[in-house]
Amino acid sequence: MIDLHTHTLFSDGELVPSELARRAYTAGYRVIALTDHVDMSNIDLVVPRIAEAARELSMHTQIKVIAGAEITHVPPKLLGRLVEKARGLGAEIVVVHGETIAEPVAPGTNRAGIEAGADILSHPGLISIEDAEMARDRGVALEITARKGHSLTNGHVAKTAMMTGAQMVLNTDAHSPDDLISRERAALILRAAGIPEESIETIFANSQKIADRAGR
Ligand SMILES: [Zn+2]
Ligand SMILES: [Zn+2]
Repeated sequence: MIDLHTHTLFSDGELVPSELARRAYTAGYRVIALTDHVDMSNIDLVVPRIAEAARELSMHTQIKVIAGAEITHVPPKLLGRLVEKARGLGAEIVVVHGETIAEPVAPGTNRAGIEAGADILSHPGLISIEDAEMARDRGVALEITARKGHSLTNGHVAKTAMMTGAQMVLNTDAHSPDDLISRERAALILRAAGIPEESIETIFANSQKIADRAGR
């Protein structure tokens, strides 16, 4: 299992990075990205700390831990600057918190996150065809999520991504160790979103590619 969207104590997750990585490893994970919620207030505190943990854990354990950040509820016009700042501070995977219908995310966030060059637009809700086309052109992955609430629109996201050719990834958005899932469960969630059997391995391969890119 490769999971590119999780939370630790550095935002609203339950565990320190070391325990989340250990729990993930014993749950069968090979790769995990730590992507805590950040905005302009905490980005410079959180990202370097996560980067330090990711470096040491990757070196001294058998799971690859990638430093990331999820830029969350930031006014859309500030997203470009913060994506760049997160990368400068050591985030190798930048997620922008998309327009889930489970929260009052500012309209225009999906578009701005894609334009900002995020690696992943998480739970993009009722994403438009135009935005999905832009995500395809810019290589931004659209997320199918295991998380309750956000997952209500998985079917719409999958349909729109398949219609436009935008790439998808499957993440848990785990906040607690109970949220970690097996690859079998991940495949089941993809099937439940209406994704055909032959596309499931492609979606796992998309996560692998993003993880490989982050490792360089
Ligand atoms: Zn959260
Ligand atoms: Zn999240």
